[in-house]
Amino acid sequence: MTYSLPALPYDPAALEPHLSARILELHHDKHHQAYVDGANTTLEKLADARAKGDFASLVGLQKTLAFNVAGHALHSIYWTNMSPDGGDKPTGDLASAIDEYFGGFDGFRKQMTAATVSVQGSGWSALVWEPLGQRLVVEQIEDHHNHSIEGTRALLVIDAWEHAYYLQYENRRADYVEAIWNVINWDDVASRFADSR
Ligand code: MN
Repeated sequence: MTYSLPALPYDPAALEPHLSARILELHHDKHHQAYVDGANTTLEKLADARAKGDFASLVGLQKTLAFNVAGHALHSIYWTNMSPDGGDKPTGDLASAIDEYFGGFDGFRKQMTAATVSVQGSGWSALVWEPLGQRLVVEQIEDHHNHSIEGTRALLVIDAWEHAYYLQYENRRADYVEAIWNVINWDDVASRFADSR
């Protein structure tokens, strides 16, 4: 089995005016596809290295595998984390847990916003379930895979790479993050939370 690109769960224009159709088309069809292809190519190179018994390039291949598989995983979650029917706030158990671990939705939203806006270079913010401490935490991920905590399950991720917003928001990453709260699919986040616990 190889990795494959999941279909966007909505029309590329469905998230307008908050995210333009052109951003969604390029981001999904080109950028996400490149991570899927990169993951598959790297698996082939690893198989080739095993066949030859030549692991001279192994360190680079391991980094490339982590970068591409993590990129594929994050984007797959990102698409489903958004919906044209999204926005507002979570309810139920997820809302209660956010109250418990962040002192309320407003504090959580400010922290997640700050984590997204302040990524140095390319990266992500992620609301994750951390099973050792049995708690929600926000991660700030560089590239696709650095500074993520082993064993955590991502519930909500926000892409802070320039390709996620630059065509529409230019250098105003903070404006992109403010807009994206209008399309967050809290039902999807709550479903991931229920599965994680
Ligand atoms: Mn991206």
